[in-house]
Amino acid sequence: MRWNPRLEGMRAYEPGKTIGEVKREFGLHRIVKLASNENPFGCSGKVKKFIAEAGLETALYPDGYATELREALSSKLGVGPRQLLFGGGSDELIVIISRALLSESDNTVMPWPSFPQYRHNARIQGAEVREVPLREDFSHDLDGMLKAIDKKTSIVWLCTPNNPTGGIIPHEELKAFIRKVPEHVLVIVDNAYHEFVTDPAYGDPLDLTEDFPNVLVLRTFSKAYGLAAFRVGYAIGSEEVIAKLDPVRPPFNTNVLGQQAAARALDDQAFIESTRQQNESGKDQYTRFAEAHGLTCPRSEANFVLMEVKGSADAAADELLKRGYIVRSGDKLGTPGYLRITVGSREDNEGLLAALEEMLAQGVPEA
Ligand SMILES: *Cc1c(COP(=O)(O)O)cnc(C)c1O
Repeated sequence: MRWNPRLEGMRAYEPGKTIGEVKREFGLHRIVKLASNENPFGCSGKVKKFIAEAGLETALYPDGYATELREALSSKLGVGPRQLLFGGGSDELIVIISRALLSESDNTVMPWPSFPQYRHNARIQGAEVREVPLREDFSHDLDGMLKAIDKKTSIVWLCTPNNPTGGIIPHEELKAFIRKVPEHVLVIVDNAYHEFVTDPAYGDPLDLTEDFPNVLVLRTFSKAYGLAAFRVGYAIGSEEVIAKLDPVRPPFNTNVLGQQAAARALDDQAFIESTRQQNESGKDQYTRFAEAHGLTCPRSEANFVLMEVKGSADAAADELLKRGYIVRSGDKLGTPGYLRITVGSREDNEGLLAALEEMLAQGVPEA
């Protein structure tokens, strides 16, 4: 068969292990998954009730325009309905954006380590990938990114809070950066963890879409809203940019249950507030542990932390797996020597930290 040669050597996304896999592999009964930054508290009770009671029409295609959800978001965010684009998760929006803008004659600038799908999709498009390392303190090197931009740059990706490091780009820095980016470059601001941020310096990146038509913000219902299973993400930007991207979107890309659940989830901001507060206390548990053990754990504004293990993160992740905790090894995420741990419920954080303590006492093998 005549495959696209750019697929040579590419591998499918490797998600964290599933609970079922770990149960079978280690013969364990209780598994705690803190690997994919899902909401440990599930979703809004209103959404659960709706799903249990919804008598959904299964034979008809969903509303491709996602009218109800579009109206709900448009009024919540104070943007026009035509400033929104929906995707099967923001993952699909990254695919759509890459298809719409990237080809062999382009390059795209992104931080590293960051969300690997920016790079993956750029490679499928055949574009040159320019990765700019984060600074020593894990912040975006915005000056370095500016220097990497040239006439052939089509997209600059920013991730705030950044996955897997958790830090934000302060609003003033972000604004100053965007001012200096040439107008022919689309700036993507991936805000997958927006709802968790408490640092006032973050401001609201959405404000920038008012002044800069080349800025597109990505958000999702998968993380704080607890709807990862339904695959609903959205982009907010200028009508011109949305209108150019829309023809690339598959016609019925968000499903009927996802659209309706997301609209109801938006309505329950008390759930988001409670999630944010519990996440803050959970992060404190990890920060205190790190301080007590002399481990680096950079300040995170998201619902995960990076925890230093002073040894091989792969080995540490495997050890935790045997004890029933699924986390991600930073060795595979561009942060060697660190684990990326999703902040869970208080009990789950306690359990994981107890397992980590035991492991550290035994000594984590060298990388
Ligand atoms: C989780 C995540 C996404 C993708 O989320 P979807 O479930 O596809 O909406 C996008 N960007 C970042 C940085 C993420 O961490």
